[in-house]
Amino acid sequence: MAPSAQPALLTSVSSDEKYANVKWEELAFGFVRTDNMYVAKCNHGEDFQEGKIVPFADLQLNPCAAVLQYGQGLYEGLKAYRTEDGRILLFRPDQNGHRIQAGAKRLYMPYPSVDQFVSAMKQVALANKKWIPPPGKGTLYIRPILFGSGPILGSFPVPETTFSAFACPVGRYHKDNTGLNLKVEDKFRRAFLSGTGGVKSITNYCPVWIPMAEARKQGFSDLLFMDAATGKNVEELFAANVFMLKGNVVSTPSLTGTILPGVTRICVMELCRDFGYQVEERVIPLEEFLESDETFCTGTASIVTSIASVTFKDKKTGFKTGEDTLAAKLYDTLSDIQTGRVEDTKGWTVEIDRQG
Ligand SMILES: *Cc1c(COP(=O)(O)O)cnc(C)c1O
Repeated sequence: MAPSAQPALLTSVSSDEKYANVKWEELAFGFVRTDNMYVAKCNHGEDFQEGKIVPFADLQLNPCAAVLQYGQGLYEGLKAYRTEDGRILLFRPDQNGHRIQAGAKRLYMPYPSVDQFVSAMKQVALANKKWIPPPGKGTLYIRPILFGSGPILGSFPVPETTFSAFACPVGRYHKDNTGLNLKVEDKFRRAFLSGTGGVKSITNYCPVWIPMAEARKQGFSDLLFMDAATGKNVEELFAANVFMLKGNVVSTPSLTGTILPGVTRICVMELCRDFGYQVEERVIPLEEFLESDETFCTGTASIVTSIASVTFKDKKTGFKTGEDTLAAKLYDTLSDIQTGRVEDTKGWTVEIDRQG
């Protein structure tokens, strides 16, 4: 076991126990080494081979692999939930399967079928079942990755592509239960028109670590990115979509290729319509965003989290937070469906295990 990788969180695991020996109360959002992972490969010009569950281990990579040389890689993120009555659920895994396909097309890569993708997610969850936290204590976050693993120096084709997935038990992504304090990023941009902002390309994230680190140092929870073309319109957070409520209208920036089409985003739009709100996808100027009654962000990791304040050039604007917000109602509704506390009338959950 890699000594550096494992935090003090873990003590020991014996194979006949229902749960891994994890201090569930202390679970944060971070890497935890679990037992097994999924790996499938695809040679150029062929379909993806059937994947296998193998013990979690370092991957071997050719130093000239396309992912290392040219950043040809995508990731996904979804969760497995343990219900109070002992079932295990995935939440809309087909959506992640479709999204990784869209990303693969954009990055000129072969991709697994949606069926293979969903089957891989089930296998990874079941192969790490004892790492799925008890109900109410967290979830098992599954990280699928698709990347150019074959060597390429200058010219096509990439000889081999790898589809893999591992899983880590996680707690809350944003520690701030009381709402996020965001800083408007007015210099660095995360995506530009016709670029890769609309797919989960691994190249989209570390280019904004400089301002993220600065913001963290200043005590902010996350950044609010502006569009690259004008710098005036709200786009999204580091890895979460953003919404505003004004009167009876819920608005979120439209998908123009620079914003990641979140699975949580479409669920939240549907739930808002169910609740009787008018829902709009449109351009949202920062000025207008700052006049919201309420704002919140959405994502698999953050679920639905209130935004308590947005700071733009040293001016801080506060928003409503707490029990009596739309964000709280959405959080409760969505997590009730995800964790099987209410009947899923929308067909969003996929049950993968009955025995508990
Ligand atoms: C993953 C991600 C989201 C959220 O997508 P979900 O499918 O809801 O988890 C939003 N923005 C970015 C940039 C992301 O990477």
